[in-house]
Amino acid sequence: MKRVYNFNAGPSAMPLEVLKQVQQEFLDFAGTGMSIVEISHRSAVYQDMQDDTVAMLRRLLEVPAGYHVVFMQGGGSMQFLMHGANFLKQRGGYINTGVWSTKAMQAAAFVGEVYEIATSGDKNFSYIPRSDTFVIRPDTDYVYITSNNTIHGTEWKKFPKFNIPVICDMSSDFLARPIDVSRFDLIYAGVQKNLGPAGVVAAIIKDSFLETARTDIPVMLQYKTFTEHDSTYNTPPVFCIYFVNKVLHWLENQGGLEKMQERNAHKAQIVYKTIDDSAGFYIGHAAMDSRSNMNVTFNLRTPELEKKFLIEADAAGFVGIKGHRSIGGCRASLYNAVTEEACAALSEFMQNFQKNN
Ligand code: PMP
Repeated sequence: MKRVYNFNAGPSAMPLEVLKQVQQEFLDFAGTGMSIVEISHRSAVYQDMQDDTVAMLRRLLEVPAGYHVVFMQGGGSMQFLMHGANFLKQRGGYINTGVWSTKAMQAAAFVGEVYEIATSGDKNFSYIPRSDTFVIRPDTDYVYITSNNTIHGTEWKKFPKFNIPVICDMSSDFLARPIDVSRFDLIYAGVQKNLGPAGVVAAIIKDSFLETARTDIPVMLQYKTFTEHDSTYNTPPVFCIYFVNKVLHWLENQGGLEKMQERNAHKAQIVYKTIDDSAGFYIGHAAMDSRSNMNVTFNLRTPELEKKFLIEADAAGFVGIKGHRSIGGCRASLYNAVTEEACAALSEFMQNFQKNN
């Protein structure tokens, strides 16, 4: 078996240890004589596993009392609609930092009025807007932000304080660093970057915010349906939740989120340093102070050179380096399960490519 260096943006690399554990348990989950995908989601053995998953998430993120943790389907994209359907009454304010916040704003516009509190669209979303540029209009129901911009490679380093509810899409840096959950009213994340297979979204919702949600919308669009039925109003994506459970235990064994943050910063630094030391051979897309520790985005001087780089990287066993189709260039995604060794190997490859070209 040969495993490649996986820099995919999502779905993405998962811890090898977890993959092996899942494989080993696949035919007989917890002594039931059945696979996790064959047992009832109403069984005690399933419920115990789901309860443990919620408890682990709470523990790792230090989720305070007064918040619900739920699992939903439909991906991040369903959340683009759902947050608006529940909470947009007068107007929703968005800090537009790229493709995903634009999509969230467009989806919520189906429900009501949306506007940009700030945007970095003037420079192809290469930076995180400064808080002194924010313009929040009266009667704004919430401010919406995207903690990490997967496509553009930018990340909020510090979250500004707001005096209205805050909704945050944390899909691409969820559990990659500690977060002060009390600063947010709704956090959601598709798990397919840092936590497991595509198919489930984890959400953390403040109870007092939830109380303000609309109830005149279809049942499956209401967050309350998921909080009141403990994520099992209908059949939850059992395999995804089970896999997430394994990754959460892995994370705890790795030393938790502070350790992850430290390790992720170090990994990203290896690749950013290669870019910075290349005398312009590699050109980083993100502004220095907005650089993501999850997705490192860069270009080469010409499209021809970029093409050559991508072909050679692929041949050398570096998978997923091509940038998102909407902006092109190159991107290395360095989520939790990507090893320091993989980052060092990529850096070496980049330096050698530069020497030969
Ligand atoms: N938000 C962010 C930050 C993302 O990176 C993505 C997907 N890469 C999405 C939302 C959309 O998620 P999904 O594909 O699960 O709908």
